[in-house]
Amino acid sequence: MREIKIKDKGFPIILEPYPHILIPSKKQLHGWWPGKRECTGERLLINPYNGCSIGCFFCYTRAFPGYFELFQNRGIVVVAEDFPSTVEKQLDSINVASCGYLSPVCDPFQKVNEKYHYSEKIIRIFTERNIPIEFITKSEVPEEVIELLKIQKHSFGQISILTLDDNLRRVLVPFGADTETLLNNIKRMKKNGIFVVARIDPILPFVNDDKEDLKKLVERCIEAGASHIITSVLDIPLKIKNFVFEEISKKFGKKTVRLYSELYREKIDGYLHADINYRKGIFTFLKSLTQKESVSFALCMEYGIEDGKPRGLNRRFATSINCEGINIPLYIRKNKKFIPATNCHGNCLNCNEALCGISELAMGKPGSKKDWKLKDYRRWSKKIRPSFLSI
Ligand code: SF4
Ligand code: SF4
Repeated sequence: MREIKIKDKGFPIILEPYPHILIPSKKQLHGWWPGKRECTGERLLINPYNGCSIGCFFCYTRAFPGYFELFQNRGIVVVAEDFPSTVEKQLDSINVASCGYLSPVCDPFQKVNEKYHYSEKIIRIFTERNIPIEFITKSEVPEEVIELLKIQKHSFGQISILTLDDNLRRVLVPFGADTETLLNNIKRMKKNGIFVVARIDPILPFVNDDKEDLKKLVERCIEAGASHIITSVLDIPLKIKNFVFEEISKKFGKKTVRLYSELYREKIDGYLHADINYRKGIFTFLKSLTQKESVSFALCMEYGIEDGKPRGLNRRFATSINCEGINIPLYIRKNKKFIPATNCHGNCLNCNEALCGISELAMGKPGSKKDWKLKDYRRWSKKIRPSFLSI
């Protein structure tokens, strides 16, 4: 059996259902990464897998270091062995929790999940404790997940759907679910009373940016039950620029690459961005469309340069309080389950009041720390000890 050597230790490559290795992991739940954070709500990020077999050529994680390089260079996914029980122990060590965000750097329902079902297990661990959890996917949402989400009132799902044209979808998202299945995910969740976000994310210039097509796509997503639309225009990490341009050339022709070379001139923190006026044109169009359709709208990680510094574009384009369209407060433990700490909007990034009792988490003041770790949740857990706590 072939193996991968990591720090002189061999890990056998398991071929089915997709080449992967199992690595013991002490990874901890953590909040957003430092830097130019735009995400308004606090989250506990959970990464059971590194590398993603859905295979989008434009995926920014192809530029990530560490285990992600193993996927980009050799097509091998890394599975954090027994990760659900690690998550369970960590949740049981805190009395304060924000909404979980399952698998921000790969699809939670990709091929290896068919063997390990870590995503379903982790969602169960959260919902059993009544802690909200969310995910983003381009795959079919398992029925078990819908059954679990529907019992936790702030849990929700985001479906990434880039085009209604399934031939184009096969090129962009080769091992994702087909377009009808994605629309059906939205319908199934909506039918079960679960908040659903449709993400047209990313829009690739000259590929899926036709305004008439975008209009039809937004209308179909809303008709299926989406309550909020998120979009972004493709950013290209400089590290994988050549790879992405070669793929665009192979898939869409040399003329499209020339158009990209002209359009992608703006560099922000190691990423190439499409011309700001092009992006603003798309966002203005989608914002006004969603306003007509009476659903909320936001951008994901979109920046422009103002006074020489990157500034988030959501200030101008978002029509919701939180970028994900749903307001989720912090939760605190009451015996074995958690309950909302307060009935705030959960937009901690802009909050000045800290009704939840965690003053550091109200990050509205300039210069606030914005990246939180499990150790911070443990520290807050000691402070928050309402009289009804039994632990
Ligand atoms: S589904 Fe998401 S994480 Fe997976 S390859 Fe595509 S963009 Fe990357
Ligand atoms: S009160 Fe403010 S800091 Fe606390 S959870 Fe709500 S939005 Fe976040």
